[in-house]
Amino acid sequence: MHPLQCVLRAQRCLQRGPLASVSWLLLRTCRAHSSIPSSACPSPERPQEDGVGKDFSSRLATGPTFQDFLRSALVPPEKPSSSEMEDPPPYLTADELLGRQRRVYLETYGCQMNVNDTEIAWSILEKSGYLRTNSLQEADVILLVTCSIREKAEQTIWNRLHQLKSLKSKRLRSRVPLRIGILGCMAERLKEEILNREKMVDILAGPDAYRDLPRLLAVAESGQQAANVLLSLDETYADVMPVQTSPSATSAFVSIMRGCDNMCSYCIVPFTRGRERSRPIASILEEVRKLSEQGLKEVTLLGQNVNSFRDNSEVQFNSAVSTNLSRGFSTNYKAKQGGLRFAHLLDQVSRIDPEMRIRFTSPHPKDFPDEVLQLIHERDNICKQIHLPAQSGSSRVLEAMRRGYSREAYVKLIQHIRECIPGVSLSSDFIAGFCGETEEDHLQTVSLLREVQYNIGFLFAYSMRQKTRAYHRLKDDIPEEVKLRRLEELITVFREEATKANKSFVGCTQLVLVEGPSKRSATDLCGRNDGNLKVIFPDVEVEDVTDSGLRVRAQPGDYVLVKITSASSQTLKGHVLRKTTLKDSTAYC
Ligand code: SF4
Repeated sequence: MHPLQCVLRAQRCLQRGPLASVSWLLLRTCRAHSSIPSSACPSPERPQEDGVGKDFSSRLATGPTFQDFLRSALVPPEKPSSSEMEDPPPYLTADELLGRQRRVYLETYGCQMNVNDTEIAWSILEKSGYLRTNSLQEADVILLVTCSIREKAEQTIWNRLHQLKSLKSKRLRSRVPLRIGILGCMAERLKEEILNREKMVDILAGPDAYRDLPRLLAVAESGQQAANVLLSLDETYADVMPVQTSPSATSAFVSIMRGCDNMCSYCIVPFTRGRERSRPIASILEEVRKLSEQGLKEVTLLGQNVNSFRDNSEVQFNSAVSTNLSRGFSTNYKAKQGGLRFAHLLDQVSRIDPEMRIRFTSPHPKDFPDEVLQLIHERDNICKQIHLPAQSGSSRVLEAMRRGYSREAYVKLIQHIRECIPGVSLSSDFIAGFCGETEEDHLQTVSLLREVQYNIGFLFAYSMRQKTRAYHRLKDDIPEEVKLRRLEELITVFREEATKANKSFVGCTQLVLVEGPSKRSATDLCGRNDGNLKVIFPDVEVEDVTDSGLRVRAQPGDYVLVKITSASSQTLKGHVLRKTTLKDSTAYC
């Protein structure tokens, strides 16, 4: 991209969104486009055995003139596309944008969105001629896909960078020096702090900048640090099909939307992943069809607020009637209108392959209108499993968190879901020790755990993040030891109740999708039931009702019926009855 286009694009974004990062991006971009070395960067004159650095510097010196800038300013800047990537910026040759068989090692931290982002980043790099390696030692490029949700998550990355230091030093004088990049939320949140604090980091790419990876790596080849942390209003990577890396995988994640507009007061996500935007339905359906053709048996639709999906990509979609929020729930933003909603997508996706299970995560409780619940109930291949992040059982704390619901509204929703989808499996997220949480508030959360009896839970102690509303307006006043004690108490209660909930499966027959050998025992297999609980059972020959009653051993990707004989807070155990299909055989009690 031309330098001035960078500036114009950044200005456009500034007008559209709360992007504190932009001016910094401009600074970095202009450094990359000018011959002025960044104080944070190694000198451009740094010796490079292959001479790339020298070429690069001289090209910068004789680079585009002010007239060039003016000429290109007449051309309205467009969203980058693959064809644009083939047309290199003036300070790089087409060859330098190519990976030239450099080996990339990708390491993922954090949530499932990051796992999916890793595959998007890899898909982009693979098209540019990079190779992937699973060996840190043979990597030419190491990319860490990072998480910022809690302080501990970021500390893990700082520690990892320290470990990588010696690898980088060993390769300093090699023909192909090792390049290290930070991708994702931490790059977005900390920006130059990473480059200044860790000179060993060569590139930064925020969650909306993965298309720019080949350019960033090409700039890094010269010894310059390079960064793109622009957030986008429309980037969904709709046309980038993530690469399915494990041929034996039975399931895949399909990203359907990115970002979040909710602005819960404790959450960094709206600042690291930007505004909410949905991927066009047609491209999602195409990806799911491809995964079905590859023989995958389970797809999880992914998004920060997956059930807030709203495809406005075509004008005619905007006449669609908007769906209602769950009763008693509100939003922190102005009501949105039109577009194809989550129920429509779920309907279309579940029709592609009746043998393919459909899950989705992570939803917000406000977006569970009856049509979504009805569809989950009706379709055999949409899993009867709902993640319903509560965060707290106290209405007072929920208000401080700006969650848009009270405890009462949440409990009513749970009752309604259980009426609409009998036997539904429920999971949730909870935060212990949020700002101002009293013992009474904490006990309200304990009582919610007892009342609902979730099957699966994700519980954390509160970790205040800069930039969030809580950081600016509330006080992180719960001592660390109190947070941890409350967390322990929540975990204990969750486990007791989950054990009770899971024991209700004992004596039932569950339809299980086989994943592979159990990690704990070579003689057992492991899979998941419809409710996403892990099920362990002996790896023995069983009747295959799909193939004239032959006796076979179950393989990853097979559906089997398992009679449950015991249960804990996390696992079900049982014996396998037979191999079957999803369509022909539903679970029963
Ligand atoms: S809904 Fe709230 S908690 Fe979830 S990503 Fe958005 S702001 Fe964060």
